[in-house]
Amino acid sequence: MCQHIPADKVAVLSMNNSEGVNTVPVPGRRCPACLERGDTVWVIPGKCCPQCGTPVN
Ligand SMILES: [Zn+2]
Repeated sequence: MCQHIPADKVAVLSMNNSEGVNTVPVPGRRCPACLERGDTVWVIPGKCCPQCGTPVN
């Protein structure tokens, strides 16, 4: 019997067992204008807020 398993396949299987994929940190900043109204809107730095259009740096 030949039970040859490629090394890269073993690596992929072990990667699927790892946990902690659910919590992805949000890349961006909160829009200050929306924050004043009580809304937390995350904006990517350099882009405009999708809610009010305020540019966030
Ligand atoms: Zn906003």
